[in-house]
Amino acid sequence: MSYDASNIFAKILRGEIPCTKVYEDEFALAFKDIHPQAPVHILVIPKGPYVSHDDFIGSAPDEEIAGFERAVGKTVAAAGVINDGYRLIANCGVNAHQEVPHYHIHIVGGADLGPMLAKPAK
Ligand code: 5GP
Repeated sequence: MSYDASNIFAKILRGEIPCTKVYEDEFALAFKDIHPQAPVHILVIPKGPYVSHDDFIGSAPDEEIAGFERAVGKTVAAAGVINDGYRLIANCGVNAHQEVPHYHIHIVGGADLGPMLAKPAK
């Protein structure tokens, strides 16, 4: 799947639509999810044009991968969820119901999140 620069997160990165920013550095932008599914629900996106985790890991330079991972960690710390626990989610592709084709990590927390999946996949 090739990268579509008209996706909503690309527009947020270009400043064409607003977001509630939580953290930003040269590698990543973190902002609140518009439809939060937990008291804390933040999205962290790389600044480069990657569709999914496999695209990112396969195409991005090591410096960018390390920088992005550190940005996720800094965002988790800024969100204040380390002591009580949190979950990182990366939906990739059709089976995972990925909606936005720009790689992103969901940080969710602030409450008991329940089991990993709502119901077991068959
Ligand atoms: P996915 O299913 O691709 O892993 O998740 C995409 C996420 O992006 C969803 O949780 C959705 O609520 C969020 N989202 C979609 N459009 C926007 C937007 O315009 N602004 C923000 N902040 N979040 C969005």
